[in-house]
Amino acid sequence: MTQYHPLTEQEAIEYAKTIPGLFKDGAALSSREIGDGNLNLVFHISDPSSGASIILKQALPYAKVVGESWPLSLDRARIESEALQIEGGLCPDLVPRVYKYDPDLALTVMEDLSDHIIMRKGLIERRVYPEFAAHIGRFLAQTLFFTSDLGMNQQDKKVRLQQFINPDLCKITEDLIFDHPYTDADTNSFDEAIRDEVETIWSDTELHLEVARLRHGFLTNAQALLHGDLHTGSIFVTEKSTKVIDPEFAYYGPMGFDIGAVIANLLLNYAGQEGWSPDAESRSEYRNYLLETAKDVWSTFELQFRALWNESNVDRISRTEGFQSIYVEQLLRDTIGYAGCKIVRRVIGLAHVADIDKIEDASAKERAQRLALSIGKALIKHHRQAASFDEVIDIATNET
Ligand code: ADP
Ligand code: MG
Ligand code: MG
Ligand code: MG
Repeated sequence: MTQYHPLTEQEAIEYAKTIPGLFKDGAALSSREIGDGNLNLVFHISDPSSGASIILKQALPYAKVVGESWPLSLDRARIESEALQIEGGLCPDLVPRVYKYDPDLALTVMEDLSDHIIMRKGLIERRVYPEFAAHIGRFLAQTLFFTSDLGMNQQDKKVRLQQFINPDLCKITEDLIFDHPYTDADTNSFDEAIRDEVETIWSDTELHLEVARLRHGFLTNAQALLHGDLHTGSIFVTEKSTKVIDPEFAYYGPMGFDIGAVIANLLLNYAGQEGWSPDAESRSEYRNYLLETAKDVWSTFELQFRALWNESNVDRISRTEGFQSIYVEQLLRDTIGYAGCKIVRRVIGLAHVADIDKIEDASAKERAQRLALSIGKALIKHHRQAASFDEVIDIATNET
């Protein structure tokens, strides 16, 4: 047993050498810390002579963003590796392979996906990913269905749920997504240029009531094992392949929170196209692509989720005519509401997205921020009335 301490690049090499079957004996390995997150170290370890490589991700006991003053449980490394293995059992082609989890050092050794790029970066470069919606729709349908009371034995699910009690990471979401953006909190971070709109949001009690409902769902609706942080920075892509990483926020929560995260991040890039598209025609073309992708994500999810339900041995009472449609309609509403919350926090709250923050032109950036906020607010306010995903498309287009 090795006592926990953050590894150096050299120690990461020594560690990698102890794992059988990854590298040839005596190979001269190189190591680089490539993490861009705030909570973890990510080492890329490779053997330049053979091309073999792995990733070693180690949890830090605090959030880097605010120094060591924000402690975070190292148990999230276990949660991340166990979630990756459950997801890998359901969709092996859509997550990195896990080679080893070490509880003492809070680290996971996994497949190197450096031949992919982080989707957020790809969308900022206005690339097109023709397989993405089919892949992520299947990921959502498989992982959410088979970890819920519909797709697994209900007593086993209660045991599974206890494996994913994740209070520290849930608290980050409860505060930073569902609370702080709606009040004058110290953690908020927004451009002075949009202060008028932010203050309008702080006093919008109709909006707060909807956010309170959605937060209540996040706190109490243990519907399925969520990824918990499914933004486009947690998705690696190529034109042909999609890989979901970083499920350290995994816990039992409402399915719409994961689906909504994907939709929100497509819409954040949609708003950001104020700054990335060279002209009106290409902007409208890329925005159409983003909206079609969002719609395809929902349609693929819905189709596959319903098919799994129809094919599987769900309990008798849940097969009652009409119940499946009631269930799926509620998922749509949750998806839309959570998507709205995820958009608003990325403009007002602590953590922003490069799709908007990295826009250089100040007036384009301000337009992107205002557009994102108006889409986010409209989604939150409308979510309980929604009956079709087309309403999301209408909201995005009408706010432009
Ligand atoms: P965090 O939880 O700190 O956000 P991530 O798991 O998102 O950590 O990883 C941070 C970065 O490290 C990713 O954006 C990516 O650049 C790199 N990375 C993480 N996992 C892999 C992997 N399996 N293969 C290649 N690069 C990876
Ligand atoms: Mg670094
Ligand atoms: Mg990450
Ligand atoms: Mg993370």
